[in-house]
Amino acid sequence: MAVQRAKKTKARRPRPGLVKVVNPTTGKVFETFPITTREQVDAKVAKAREAFKSWSRLDVDERSVYLARFAEILRKRKEDYGRTMTMEMGKILRESIAEVEKCATAADFFAQNSKAFLTPEEAHTDAQRAYIAFHPRGVLGSIMPWNFPMWQIIRFAIPALAAGNTAVIKPASASPRTGLFVEEAFREAGLPDGVLQVVVGDYTTGTALIRSRVDFVSLTGSVSTGVKIAREAARDLKKTVLELGGSDPFIVAEDADLDQAAKGAIVGRFINNGQSCIAAKRFLVVDAVADEFLAKLEENVRRLKVGDPLDPSTDIGPLYAKSQRDEIELQVKDAVAKGAKLLVGGKRVKGPGWFFEPTLLGGVTTKMKVMRQETFGPVLPVFRVPSLDAAIEQANDTEFGLGASVWTRSLSLADDIARRIDSGLVFVNNAVKSDPRMPFGGVKHSGIGRELSRYGLLEMVNVKTVQIYPPGSPAPQGPHVE
Ligand code: NAD
Repeated sequence: MAVQRAKKTKARRPRPGLVKVVNPTTGKVFETFPITTREQVDAKVAKAREAFKSWSRLDVDERSVYLARFAEILRKRKEDYGRTMTMEMGKILRESIAEVEKCATAADFFAQNSKAFLTPEEAHTDAQRAYIAFHPRGVLGSIMPWNFPMWQIIRFAIPALAAGNTAVIKPASASPRTGLFVEEAFREAGLPDGVLQVVVGDYTTGTALIRSRVDFVSLTGSVSTGVKIAREAARDLKKTVLELGGSDPFIVAEDADLDQAAKGAIVGRFINNGQSCIAAKRFLVVDAVADEFLAKLEENVRRLKVGDPLDPSTDIGPLYAKSQRDEIELQVKDAVAKGAKLLVGGKRVKGPGWFFEPTLLGGVTTKMKVMRQETFGPVLPVFRVPSLDAAIEQANDTEFGLGASVWTRSLSLADDIARRIDSGLVFVNNAVKSDPRMPFGGVKHSGIGRELSRYGLLEMVNVKTVQIYPPGSPAPQGPHVE
């Protein structure tokens, strides 16, 4: 009788998922990464908690040494890192390299200023000594987008580390390699093991990170993700900083320098192939100068060269994903169907990759998606308004409140305009940009909290009241309120 052998059953190990990064210039897979599993996320957070014990005890100046070394490494590698960033998400090479340089500048800024930012503030109370201390919060989790894949990580990570926290970061699934470069550069700077770690994956990894033992969650991403993450973090009362979407107004007053304003419009709208949270997205132009301004815009938009983002002569590369191009195409079609005038562009570019023509729309109304939704692509819609007051009213008629750019020669009006616009940033006679010296963030659905500057750093600390009484002081007397 034949011996029956028990069939060998292979132990079923769950196959880890993969993140496939597609080069948006070719539409082909560029690199593949295994997704960090929930268990691995938990293990990294545990390691970060262990590293926190010694990192948080260092003096700020000791921590700053690592930040300064990190800045040097970024400058040394800017070409390599920039090139990979372009291949991951399609921004033109000179903007990628400038992004790496800006990260180095921010690292230097916090290396030089964090000591002053974190110096305890002496106070006067009935105690012998009273002060306000700025102590780290612990392990901070961060979930980041793809559009400025290094800058967004850095503007969270540098102040987080300067303040004595440790960090676990999840870059967008479109740009994990850039996130891993940040980890690599810090390793090379000699940063102690576990102080900054990167996990790779999609929203499932993001959710695992929020549910892990992190003490705080920072998100830069869309409004809908912000709502989900805030809900998830609230289950365990974790503090969040949310940097979300925007539909920034760009106001052109009757007395504006129109040539300057037109140049500002091109930078403000088309930077990063039109995919920036602080891109100017709604152009509100006073009627009296609208025709002249449109003519200048048309001339400038026609000059933009679309092509391979690695080619130094290119101005506009591809959108980061096919889905993003489909979205922008729908928004343009909606505007045209509702009566907008297509003055330049308006179509996808034939051939491989996710290219879309730089597009100028006139005759825009508030019924169109381009005025109501965030347009994340190279589309410039112009809406006519009768006056500056009407422009400000229109500027505020949105769920968003990130930035605003206003062009006028009447500088005496600048403070009043800045006060009346509901946004986190207002720039007069310039395009909106971030700067490590200034706070960055939005109001309304554009977010909660601030990044950069001392204000951004203070989001990531425990502001602690310390009151020291001499031994033998009388016990508190009299009625107390909490
Ligand atoms: P997104 O919201 O789709 O993704 C952002 C990050 O969140 C990614 O890492 C993603 O994997 C993760 N994520 C998505 N859903 C999640 C969930 N349910 N739980 C946990 N993690 C989740 O945004 P995006 O497409 O990567 O980026 C574009 C958006 O980001 C735009 O709306 C843009 O305006 C905004 N943005 C804002 C700022 C700012 O500073 N305010 C800066 C850049 C981009």
